[in-house]
Amino acid sequence: MNFNDYPIDSLMYITNRPEIIFTHGKGSWLYDNTGKRYLDFVQGWAVNSLGHCNDGMIAALDKQSRQLINPSPAFYNEPMAQLAGLLTQHSCFDKVFFANSGAEANEGAIKLARKWGKKFKDGAFEIITFNHSFHGRTLATMSASGKPGWDTLYAPQVPGFPKAELNDLDSVAALINSKTVAVMLEPVQGEGGVVPATPEFMQQLRALTQQHNLLLIVDEVQSGCGRAGTLFAYEASGIEPDLMTLGKGIGGGVPLAALLAKAHVNVFEAGDQGGTYNGNPLMTAVGYAVMSQLTAPGFLDSVQARSAYLSAKLLELSQERGFAGERGSGLLRALLLGKEIGPQIVEKARLMQPDGLLLNAARPNLLRFMPALNVSEAEIDQMLVMLRQVLDSL
Ligand code: PLP
Repeated sequence: MNFNDYPIDSLMYITNRPEIIFTHGKGSWLYDNTGKRYLDFVQGWAVNSLGHCNDGMIAALDKQSRQLINPSPAFYNEPMAQLAGLLTQHSCFDKVFFANSGAEANEGAIKLARKWGKKFKDGAFEIITFNHSFHGRTLATMSASGKPGWDTLYAPQVPGFPKAELNDLDSVAALINSKTVAVMLEPVQGEGGVVPATPEFMQQLRALTQQHNLLLIVDEVQSGCGRAGTLFAYEASGIEPDLMTLGKGIGGGVPLAALLAKAHVNVFEAGDQGGTYNGNPLMTAVGYAVMSQLTAPGFLDSVQARSAYLSAKLLELSQERGFAGERGSGLLRALLLGKEIGPQIVEKARLMQPDGLLLNAARPNLLRFMPALNVSEAEIDQMLVMLRQVLDSL
């Protein structure tokens, strides 16, 4: 079908989108309505951890959809329990609450921290977050985010989210007062331009929060589930946070998210938290299929090998073209362009013929790479050949 044959006008405008319709995908490749294929280094915004239409996910969806789709969140179901067990087995956390999006998981973390503050810290409710952070698009998570302009869009904000600077412990310490209950951060700021918190900062933050009896919340919606090279990014600094949120990669493309808590923060009481679709067996069965593959022996070793390869190749490209280097963790990486040509590159790469290349410019002066975690070296090489062609054409 041609683009104009689809009832596109019925969709509410929320952002500029290219005039193509994606129809199917497999692994690192996505196909549009004209049959053109695209090498996908965006993967649904770091969501498709196993690439498009992974066989294990398809099998889980098929099996579960014939068995049980939703008995209601008021009852237990098998996949919800199995996935929770897998997550507590492979992390430092004791309890799991499932949600449908990263923002919703973060809302849960905020609520849980405030409840804990009410119970144990004399009603303390402020959560220190960071400039350039991104925690979602609900009103509370927008208020928690440090995205420029979001303090006035949809004002008034939800109060209680003072902002510190990433990797600057003094800026956090300066905000702590009797109302502070927690510090919340992304171990790698994704939307902010792929800026990792240093291991030293994570360790100092853990010590500071312990000293003041504050909760440490890691938003691993983007950095978690193997994306940063370890199953969860917090592992790389050897610390144990009190709360963690997951989204994106945990569902491999389906709407699934989770809030994980240490036992001492497990303070929700009956009726405090919930949601119609939370923990539904269809999505948690897929999540189980995804997490089983991510935790299989050798999988994360291969992510680390691909990450080292991509990092080295991006650095080589940066040196060759006089760019400003590369950075990131695992398969969440950025090429620093040193000038604001990111959006132009993204556009030209998509329009290439015969095959297109899908990239993202999280900031105008960089390109962000978030391929499938099972991307091959050959696909990385092919992406670089295509990217060089785009750069030549600028
Ligand atoms: N937290 C982080 C770190 C994210 O990167 C995102 C999305 O980009 C979110 C939260 C929000 O997740 P969702 O879009 O699933 O609500």
